[in-house]
Amino acid sequence: MVHRLERDGLIALDERKEVHLTKSGKRHADSIVRRHRLAERFLVEVLGFEWWKTHEEAERLEHAMSPEMEQRIQMVLGDPQTCPHGNPMPGVRGRPTKPLERVPAGATATVERIPDQFEHEPGFLEYLDSQGLRPGVDVRVVDLRHGEPIRVMVDGTERTIRADCGQKVWVRA
Ligand SMILES: [Zn+2]
Ligand SMILES: [Zn+2]
Repeated sequence: MVHRLERDGLIALDERKEVHLTKSGKRHADSIVRRHRLAERFLVEVLGFEWWKTHEEAERLEHAMSPEMEQRIQMVLGDPQTCPHGNPMPGVRGRPTKPLERVPAGATATVERIPDQFEHEPGFLEYLDSQGLRPGVDVRVVDLRHGEPIRVMVDGTERTIRADCGQKVWVRA
């Protein structure tokens, strides 16, 4: 695998034998990420998928997308800046964000994104949705102690959400 990527010029090994993405490797990686995020947007905005359901579907769709299809989807969707989970398209500078656990009790913050690595976590996005938590929603922190379930107000309802949401839900700073 490494040899094939090296042969294709996507990665290079330095003198310490560490792997680095070359410029063309970085472009290639960006293009996969862009197709993935566009596919997620397409599933939500055109096909009416729930935001929490799109990640797995998009993993299949991204491989089927030609550069022309990618461009057309981008145009039809009006050049979206983020995926439905709030993660910016490659090259787009996202807004500053911080994990929910850094919001002091009593303060309100807006959910901005669920970082990429947590999108894949089975059931996690669906769980957030069931608690009313999705990008764009305001959350007031009622009580937050590290490692314990967090009490929040979402849409006028007080809820106790899982402790791991403190690191996995990122809000606008
Ligand atoms: Zn995804
Ligand atoms: Zn996403």
